[in-house]
Amino acid sequence: MSKGSCRFCGEELSTIFVDLGISPLANSYVESVSQKEIMYPLRTYVCEHCFLVQVEDFETPEHIFSEYAYFSSYSDSWLNHCRNYVEHMIDKFQYSSDTNVVEIASNDGYLLQYFKEKGISVLGIEPAANVAKSAIEKGIDTVVDFFGTQLANALKEKGKTADLLLGNNVLAHVPDLNDFVKGMKVLLNPQGTITMEFPHLLQLIEHNQFDTIYHEHFSYFSFTTVSKLFAQHKLSIYDVEQLETHGGSIRIYAKHSENRDLSISQAVQALLEQEASLGMGKIDIYKSFSEKAVELKREIMGLLIELKNNGNTIVGYGAPAKGNTLINYCGIDRDYLDYTVDRSPYKQGTFLPGSRIPVYSPDVLKQTKPEYVLILPWNLKEEIMEQTAFIREWGGKWIIPVPEMRVL
Ligand SMILES: [Zn+2]
Repeated sequence: MSKGSCRFCGEELSTIFVDLGISPLANSYVESVSQKEIMYPLRTYVCEHCFLVQVEDFETPEHIFSEYAYFSSYSDSWLNHCRNYVEHMIDKFQYSSDTNVVEIASNDGYLLQYFKEKGISVLGIEPAANVAKSAIEKGIDTVVDFFGTQLANALKEKGKTADLLLGNNVLAHVPDLNDFVKGMKVLLNPQGTITMEFPHLLQLIEHNQFDTIYHEHFSYFSFTTVSKLFAQHKLSIYDVEQLETHGGSIRIYAKHSENRDLSISQAVQALLEQEASLGMGKIDIYKSFSEKAVELKREIMGLLIELKNNGNTIVGYGAPAKGNTLINYCGIDRDYLDYTVDRSPYKQGTFLPGSRIPVYSPDVLKQTKPEYVLILPWNLKEEIMEQTAFIREWGGKWIIPVPEMRVL
């Protein structure tokens, strides 16, 4: 069977990065335990030509994203991150009421609301109708659609272009990368800036974040590969920042290659050199990742089995997509985790895809007093440990699974 061709350069894919078995779509929460589910192989490949790491896609984006259970507004630390970004950008570029900000994958308008508060004109683009509705109710002008050259041309014809075009955690979700980046080229004003944030493949590899891989994330980028992708469409990355979010992300700043007014920061060359020195331009680092994921799986299961043999109760905290990869890859089910809890009312009362672990409100922790709480969104562990500090009252402990398993 053909494994398909690289989403960016078209080269045939033959080298496995990591094989996470079979799994349902990570964001398809199940309404009842007797509901049927479709499972798909979760095999990740690395392109030996451009080093883009990518999963095979089995479902259309229309199927995956038209009803999406992820509402950004339910994480305090993410909201803070976005508020800081908005202030930073207004300060850096002296944005005023004449500025047009367009966000791709604007979710429930959580970020654009901060620009709007400053009197800046905003437009959101969001394919999930249910989350877009929530943005529109907040007064954030939102187009319900997928982004690509077709939509970019349509918006441009209506005179809607962008001085700031941003997209956070969307690049990974894009099936047709070249069309997407080409569309950004169309929508960006001549002097405009694009910013995009996405998890950094270097961090994924170094910190064993195999659970950030799921079917809805089609691609995983190094800075080197994303620079090539943008350059191919005459966009130049002129600055880059490394961020703590999602276990280690990067924020890139891009401009039209024809725009000579913005100079290239030293950070760009520095990160390219760092990636090269760590071997991101050679196949070996990608080929050795699999073994690290397997080792962590054995360690996590070893602990859970030991705790259960000793009569402990273990529950989860959070119901993020990454938790579903971890749970399904490790083979964790209700024999190990009694339930998990999540702050999002949209997820409460559902069951995790695959494992069928029920999702409750965080209040249930106080009622059942579990001995161990496995933190699934480990990237938010400080925030979660603070919110659940009360488990200390009955001697409860937290388990952090990634980058290495720890009990605190
Ligand atoms: Zn490639």
